Amino acid sequence: MKYYILFGPPGAGKGTQAGAMVEKYNLRHLSTGALLRSEIAAGTPLGRQAKTLIEAGSLVPDEVVEGMIESQFNQAEGVDGFLLDGFPRTIAQAESLDALLNRRGEEVTAVVSIMIPDTLIRERITHRASIEGRADDARPEVVDNRIRTYHEKTEPVAAYYRKDGRYYEIDGAGSIEEVRGRIRSLMDRF
Ligand code: AMP
Repeated sequence: MKYYILFGPPGAGKGTQAGAMVEKYNLRHLSTGALLRSEIAAGTPLGRQAKTLIEAGSLVPDEVVEGMIESQFNQAEGVDGFLLDGFPRTIAQAESLDALLNRRGEEVTAVVSIMIPDTLIRERITHRASIEGRADDARPEVVDNRIRTYHEKTEPVAAYYRKDGRYYEIDGAGSIEEVRGRIRSLMDRF
């Protein structure tokens, strides 16, 4: 099985690019953000716990998302691998993912990191707010907290994977098609 991580700041285009990637490479898309939003919509206890944190632009506890990922890995029928989107977002999550995959005799295949500057993050999120209606996209102070959280907690995850050569960076500026082309020419190598 292939285990790809789609990495990058909020607004980099991870969700947008994921659709074409899962189709072309027969992967299951696992977005922890989307899974959490469906828990919120279903009004589950986990959703209620996550809602306040998400709407403040903060991360939910590591154990919560780690548990979600593990249960999704057990539903692998008919696919050649997984595309993790929005996970891992902390060093602790990256370590826990390595341990989890190790127990299954598997490993992370590659980290595909879509990079955009902070100015473009704000522009993309403001645009998305008018389309998707996400509460955490609408308020500038929440967006600021997400960008800060990304730099403090998530960016170090890049170095974690870079040190053993599993980390690949692509330029996320440009049209959806341009970025998709860059991702494809990278992924065709694996
Ligand atoms: P996303 O859809 O990936 O932008 O995620 C939306 C929000 O869900 C984030 O701002 C976090 O509050 C929460 N979230 C998603 N994935 C994770 C994760 N791996 N660890 C902690 N919180 C997460």
